[in-house]
Amino acid sequence: MDPFDFMKELERQLKPYKDVFPSTSRLPEYGLSREEVLGLVRALRDREQARWQKGYASGAVYHGDEEHIDFLNQVYALQSQSNPLHADLWPSALKFEAEVVAMTADMLGARSVPAGAGPNAKICGTVSSGGTESILLAMKTYRDWARDRNGITTPEIIAPVSAHAAFDKAAQYFGMRLVRIPLDSEYKADVEAVRAAITPNTVVIVGSAPSFPHGIIDPIPALAALAQEHGIGCHVDACLGGFVLPWAEKLGYPVPPFDFRVPGVTSMSADTHKYGYAPKGSSVVLYRGQDLRHYQYYTTADWPGGLYFSPTFAGSRPGALSAAAWATLVSMGEKGYIEATRRILETAAAIKAGVREIPELRILGDPLWVIAFTSDTLNIYQVMDRMTERGWSLNALQRPPAVHLAITLRHTQPGVAERFVNDLKAAVADVKAHPEVQTGMAPIYGLAASVPAALVQEILRTYIDMMYEV
Ligand SMILES: *Cc1c(COP(=O)(O)O)cnc(C)c1O
Repeated sequence: MDPFDFMKELERQLKPYKDVFPSTSRLPEYGLSREEVLGLVRALRDREQARWQKGYASGAVYHGDEEHIDFLNQVYALQSQSNPLHADLWPSALKFEAEVVAMTADMLGARSVPAGAGPNAKICGTVSSGGTESILLAMKTYRDWARDRNGITTPEIIAPVSAHAAFDKAAQYFGMRLVRIPLDSEYKADVEAVRAAITPNTVVIVGSAPSFPHGIIDPIPALAALAQEHGIGCHVDACLGGFVLPWAEKLGYPVPPFDFRVPGVTSMSADTHKYGYAPKGSSVVLYRGQDLRHYQYYTTADWPGGLYFSPTFAGSRPGALSAAAWATLVSMGEKGYIEATRRILETAAAIKAGVREIPELRILGDPLWVIAFTSDTLNIYQVMDRMTERGWSLNALQRPPAVHLAITLRHTQPGVAERFVNDLKAAVADVKAHPEVQTGMAPIYGLAASVPAALVQEILRTYIDMMYEV
């Protein structure tokens, strides 16, 4: 494919409003009226709402019921000026955050720590702005912990290839080396390969519960045991599964041990803004022991601006988002999460059965509710494109080429699972009948697979530049 056509296709997708709405690249001399601004924002909302609301997206909006959103908007409005950096003005923000962390820890095995175990055994943590920040914070924590404790200056992270890109981002940001481990035939981290990769510089072993690409839970007890044997950290990335797996287990689904009940697990990330059903911009990072958590904090004692400290990367933070996350947790309650999880897992079972009826497709591994599939006979990206034409927004995966659907409460609405399976059957039939039709993302993924990674990265930088073009 011609690289020029390729960028034009991407631009067409990124900037659909170019000729539809007025563009603004310098401040209007006189501010627009509020009605006018609201009208524009509403018009944009109207164009985008139906697709996610009707359940055409993979992940993206995890709850999305109108009453739920209205309720959280009310909470946000009540707390919209709050900033936890000013604890004197908004001690309420600290209450919300402390309780969000405590509830999340309790859900993820904190009860297994004996009551009198002391601060260095207690499960503790902080709120962050999202899964990526939780992961970055944990990796920085291990870097500083290992340097302080063992004098390690060239720290290494061991993570399966399926672990989220945020671990690679952390390694790049913090001058750490990421050692990627292959998966076994079930798409789980290969434990023997992890064992072989451990060096005196290893500071943390990572596992996912489950992984973003394939929705598969890594063998956490084996990974944690290796970490414990070597006196290093074991981080469980439960960004996706933290608010699903505890309830799936209660519902009787086969959930292997993955949380702080596993002795060697030293930290976890769990996203309130995914299956926690809170608005975007919140996540929780948890540690076994306050000693470890201290390496996350930033403190300075000699700045002319005063004694300054912050638990996470940001300075000022939106207290309203913590209020909304707290409101989500306490309004859902355990029963609410169990019911949501039951609906999601039942819908997932129906969709998996539907995909298995399509002989050209094959599900990767044995996932619970994030379902990745590929084809041994068709170009799976063409199948994805034919789904895009039918309104769907699925996630493209690579190495191996595959596509996934992360099932949310949106898909539990009546008729959505059937629509997905029927559209998928039709998409597969289309590709079989017309494999020569190459539009959409298929040629782009084809190109990405056939040129050096450095060139793909250059193209991605250009793509990000394009995002910031007015
Ligand atoms: C979504 C996700 C992340 C990253 O979370 P963001 O909120 O997008 O930053 C990390 N790990 C897993 C397993 C995820 O699913």
